[in-house]
Amino acid sequence: MNILQESIQAATPQAKIEYQIFIADAGTEEIFKYEDRERFNALCRNRCDNFGRKWSCPPYAPAYHEFAGEYNRIYICLTLAKTDQFNYIKHDYLKIKAANTILKSRIDKTLRKLIEKDVYYISGGSCRLCKSCKCKFQESCIHPELMTYSFEAMGINVDDMIRDIFGIPLLWYKESLPKYTCVVAGLVSKDKFEAETIIETLKSLN
Ligand code: SF4
Repeated sequence: MNILQESIQAATPQAKIEYQIFIADAGTEEIFKYEDRERFNALCRNRCDNFGRKWSCPPYAPAYHEFAGEYNRIYICLTLAKTDQFNYIKHDYLKIKAANTILKSRIDKTLRKLIEKDVYYISGGSCRLCKSCKCKFQESCIHPELMTYSFEAMGINVDDMIRDIFGIPLLWYKESLPKYTCVVAGLVSKDKFEAETIIETLKSLN
């Protein structure tokens, strides 16, 4: 598995934030072993308000093997920001929130720009194209050709996948501020895709 790594700076109104991107290039089927849809659907059902309220979330999201089955290659994108850069924010919980917003917005914007006929992406969270997902109003998705799913929604054990591939444990906010926070997304394609393009597009956002 090839892995690319780069440090990038995000210029925000409050500070310049440095973050890392790691990209692993794999066959889509190499990730099948991390799929445990029943377990992750049950976790979503018991713990998340979005269950059954977003078209991109369980129980509506497809399993990873169904979604990725029509593509051959996957480029797993791990973005990571150290939390000690957010000392201008008082509360630890808000530091994590700010870091995740920076990472999510950048990687999602980047991957969305790269969509083409045989290339699609896996978002770093649920689909946020509409302010409120139409699912909440029992209406059909208004952008079915642009909506996205996350790895988690498709039943992937993201903790295990990221630890195995990059050797980096995902850290969660419990009672104290973790050293870093991560957002995981991906790009799928039928043919080989130049992973450097993801990094170049990400850099062009700042
Ligand atoms: S495009 Fe809109 S309606 Fe469709 S899944 Fe995304 S948020 Fe929901």
